[in-house]
Amino acid sequence: MKIAENLKQLKKEIPEKVSLVAVSKTKSAESIQEAYNAGQRDFGENKVQEMVQKWEALPRDIQWHMIGHVQRNKVKYMAPFVHLIHGVDTQKLLLEIEKQAAKNDRVINCLLQVHIAEERSKFGFEPNEVAAVLKQNQSLSHVNIIGLMGMATFTDDKEQIKREFQQLKSLFDELFASKPNPVLSMGMSGDYPLAIATGSNMIRVGSLIFGARNY
Ligand SMILES: *Cc1c(COP(=O)(O)O)cnc(C)c1O
Repeated sequence: MKIAENLKQLKKEIPEKVSLVAVSKTKSAESIQEAYNAGQRDFGENKVQEMVQKWEALPRDIQWHMIGHVQRNKVKYMAPFVHLIHGVDTQKLLLEIEKQAAKNDRVINCLLQVHIAEERSKFGFEPNEVAAVLKQNQSLSHVNIIGLMGMATFTDDKEQIKREFQQLKSLFDELFASKPNPVLSMGMSGDYPLAIATGSNMIRVGSLIFGARNY
């Protein structure tokens, strides 16, 4: 594997102010360790159980990002250690995170997932719901909503992807401009240059670093 090389190449291409989450779902602890040895500390997983197993096996200074859809009954397993939950898409999930974070005496950083893609199957709040969700949850003391996450439509149409990213960026600017260090998580292996050009400050890249996934 050329994991260290891939990481180095990618780091060269992205501005310093853009954080890189290395998406390690389905990849082995050995592969993650290889990326870790090359200096990478932020890793993304989309299944809670898999993330817990890797957290137990790997160095403690790794920052674990939950980037997938989260079932409420799984929140308790990651509450002791998760660094950032990207895919918060319901009010009920927010309240469960609040509860489990409180039990662990932590404040858990979260991003609201916003539905920007054309496809109906993707998760997330509708753009016009987000302001109300933020307002409704201002008083939560163990959840900190620090930004937004979104995924563009899976298409070759760059103009469409750009439009969708721009929509998320303007919503982000409107709602988070006055907050300290807000996070806009958008961009994956196929579209991260476009995402960064549109204002993303956190990209989630898997296959470009670790190679294609076999499910
Ligand atoms: C798998 C996944 C990624 C990474 O995808 P690649 O195309 O391998 O870079 C990013 N974000 C989410 C939410 C994912 O599920």
